[in-house]
Amino acid sequence: PEDCPPTAEAAVSKYACQRRTTTGNNNKIFTDAFEVLAESYQFNELESRCLGFRRAASVLKSLPCAVQSLESTHNLPCLGEHAKVVIEEILEHGLSFEVEKILSDERYQTLKLFTSVFGVGPKTAEKWYRRGLRSFSDILADSSIHLNQMQQNGFLHYGDISRAVSEAEARALTSVIDEAVHAITPDAVLTLTGGFRRGKEFGHDVDFIVTTPEPGKEESLLHNIINILTKQGILLYCEYQPSTFDMSELPIQRFEAMDQFAKCFLIVRLESSRVEEGLHGDEGDSRGWRAVRVDVVSPPLDHYAFALLGWSGSTMFDRDLRRFARVERRMLLDNHCLYDKTKKEFLAATTEKDIFTHLGLEYIEPWQRNA
Ligand code: ATP
Ligand code: MN
Ligand code: MN
Repeated sequence: PEDCPPTAEAAVSKYACQRRTTTGNNNKIFTDAFEVLAESYQFNELESRCLGFRRAASVLKSLPCAVQSLESTHNLPCLGEHAKVVIEEILEHGLSFEVEKILSDERYQTLKLFTSVFGVGPKTAEKWYRRGLRSFSDILADSSIHLNQMQQNGFLHYGDISRAVSEAEARALTSVIDEAVHAITPDAVLTLTGGFRRGKEFGHDVDFIVTTPEPGKEESLLHNIINILTKQGILLYCEYQPSTFDMSELPIQRFEAMDQFAKCFLIVRLESSRVEEGLHGDEGDSRGWRAVRVDVVSPPLDHYAFALLGWSGSTMFDRDLRRFARVERRMLLDNHCLYDKTKKEFLAATTEKDIFTHLGLEYIEPWQRNA
């Protein structure tokens, strides 16, 4: 690829929601390194440094060409001195020694391994590490450790759910969920969201939004889907979170806050026979099925566009949409609604385009939101 012309870079916005980022990352060698650094900072609870490297990675992902010199990065936003040192190292040596050191660090490796289990976050991983545990067998052999249901299932299905889900598998699951949804409510709306909606070839799970035009029925719809999957014998695990949604509250400002719609985090058994191109990876196909992580959220129809925008991601794209709304527009955006602090009113939307219009932003297609 060509080196980035400086004129093109001057136009790069500091907000991910004003950049078009496809899955074709031209700067993977740099962004992979930044993501290791970000993760290492996260493990050490240095959140702002972590965010700094995530932002830097996001900017490089949006570039139409590979960075081939440090000079070509001069006009880019969100690249601090530290990020530039890493870029320079990689340009000169093909790798960053700082990143290599982290990758070979026992603490980093262990926390990375532990957090790869469904239901295990950085806090739990850290606690286990401090107890001297270093492997899955250490954890499973330690009788003083109590694993919750989610973690137990995370270990039980570890081999399957740590393996990437393919597009063909996501399509097969869409038809499984779609059959269940339409057996209940013919006019229900089911949308594949998350990374697959952004055109990713592989994902760590499959995300869906489901809703119905009948007000107040969205929560029972989710219950019914769960019942059907259970009767089919393909529901391996289900963590259901009821709706706590209250329209009288203003949009929550903490980005990390999960939304309040009814949702479930599932592990579903996917039969090989349902997948056109077979199961991804060898292990699954010889057995005839594999376990897949599935998320389903069910907002009321009038909040559907906000939920869809939030659940389509990417995480950085969403984060910057909210930041842009707050800083540039005096508006509060979350997965539920958009509030205009100047007009003191909620702004309704039936499509994602309506939300971009309210924010005065050019529409960015889902496949351009891989920030
Ligand atoms: P991957 O391919 O790894 O699954 P992804 O972009 O689909 O990538 P997810 O972790 O599945 O990542 O999340 C999809 C979107 O849903 C993200 O934008 C995330 O912010 C949002 N999200 C995930 N969990 C929740 C939750 N509990 N509440 C609200 N939003 C969530
Ligand atoms: Mn996902
Ligand atoms: Mn998900």
